Amino acid sequence: MKNDLNNYHENLVKDLKSSLSGNKKKITIKKKTISNLFRYKDRKRSSTFQIDLSNFNKPLYLDKKNQTLEVEGLTTYEDIVDFTLPLGFLPTITPELKHITIGGAVVGIGIESNSYKYGFVHDSLIEAEVLLPDGRIVVCSADNKYSDLFYALPNSYGTLGYILKLKIKLRAVSKYVELKSKQFTDIKSFINGMNLAIKDKSIDYIESLLYSNKSMYLITGKETNKGNNIKTIYGNTIFYKEVSCNGKYIFPIRDYLFRYDPEWFWAIPQTSIYRFFRSIAPEKLRNSAFYSRYADFQRKISSKIPFIKFEDPNFELLIQDWEVPWSESSKILKYALDNLDLDGKPLMGVPIKAFGNASSYPMKSGEIYFNLGSYSYVKKKTIKTEFVSTKIMDEFCFDHNGIKMLYSSSFIDEKRFDEIYNGKFYKKIKRKYDPKSLTPTLFHKAVKGR
Ligand SMILES: Cc1cc2nc3c(=O)[nH]c(=O)nc-3n(C[C@H](O)[C@H](O)[C@H](O)COP(=O)(O)OP(=O)(O)OC[C@H]3O[C@@H](n4cnc5c(N)ncnc54)[C@H](O)[C@@H]3O)c2cc1C
Repeated sequence: MKNDLNNYHENLVKDLKSSLSGNKKKITIKKKTISNLFRYKDRKRSSTFQIDLSNFNKPLYLDKKNQTLEVEGLTTYEDIVDFTLPLGFLPTITPELKHITIGGAVVGIGIESNSYKYGFVHDSLIEAEVLLPDGRIVVCSADNKYSDLFYALPNSYGTLGYILKLKIKLRAVSKYVELKSKQFTDIKSFINGMNLAIKDKSIDYIESLLYSNKSMYLITGKETNKGNNIKTIYGNTIFYKEVSCNGKYIFPIRDYLFRYDPEWFWAIPQTSIYRFFRSIAPEKLRNSAFYSRYADFQRKISSKIPFIKFEDPNFELLIQDWEVPWSESSKILKYALDNLDLDGKPLMGVPIKAFGNASSYPMKSGEIYFNLGSYSYVKKKTIKTEFVSTKIMDEFCFDHNGIKMLYSSSFIDEKRFDEIYNGKFYKKIKRKYDPKSLTPTLFHKAVKGR
């Protein structure tokens, strides 16, 4: 089995090599699955040579003894989980949206509710086979001659090349996750509660849904092989609503992993049409990919027929993730809950342990950070400044020794960007692995949108 699939992969690589040898054109990736790169406004795309990597989308080999997985870079987490879970394993970190690919999550800083134990997705990386922009293919690991590339891949968003194959760490798992949700009514006791949960060795997952400074739900999970009254994230259960009250719940582990997938967290308006759709649509359609395509379709219609507007002018998008050192957790939470009009939707908070494995995403190794995420529209405070909520939250985060993920829109200047994301070092690596500038720099991709 290992040989068959690895031969298949090697043949794909051979074809790719011959089609790209000595490439001098600017490149972008072509793939079948949706993108989870999020931009508030459509960006003009320059014409580039699209490299079709769609077929690099399979799990290749699971090594039970060493608990590792070899997998192609464009494999979705849904396919990975369906391959590893029947054998009793999962990647150490599995992002919550089924159609995120493993290569995308390594270069885009993937995180989960067990990140306080295992770090980010890239912290499970053992080795990566990378297609460099000029067509060369190298294999990098923490201790070979390409180790600088290995550490520069996280937060590179394809600007250093594309991951064709990876080897990652797995963990053995149980069948179910038993959740306990507890409401806190002030920030201090909520942060204290999360801190105690981090120290409790019997807990496997920690997250929180934060509605206001008087209503914060801390949700802790323990893996188990026994359970009754097992729930599902499909049918009429809308996960975030279900756990936004004191109680205990058991979900199959696969449902728990993808718990925010059907509603794209809480971004889908809960209209009567939607409720009807949810009750009759097959599971295949109730996923984040379907909704991303639907949102794209709405945007296209609005841009072509200006009088059709799907967006309410009183609201603005706030889709972002910020991380601050644990000592700043109460401050950023208070600032967000005081300054954002969430209109009944929650923010999400998870603890995360930094392992210091990302040269372009500097965080203090060994420290716990607080990750705060917003995945919906918020009510505009002022109509005048565009995306004001993103701008004030970014400023607050950066001023408190924090860092934010770059999968969504950013508005900072290059000097500040370089200070936060170790720009000097990144530029050195960029010159080494993409000397002809065939892909944009991280700043241009994340902020300027080239
Ligand atoms: C609404 C929303 C919710 C999110 N939720 C989560 C979550 O729950 N958990 C989580 O961990 N993350 C989450 N993310 C972040 C997500 O993991 C990153 O955006 C990730 O980069 C998406 O990967 P993708 O496979 O969808 O890749 P794409 O969106 O297609 O690509 C993202 C970037 O990575 C590059 N890229 C893609 N594949 C490769 C590859 N094989 N090698 C090198 N570069 C590549 C692309 O060029 C692009 O710049 C979320 C993002 C959004 C917008």
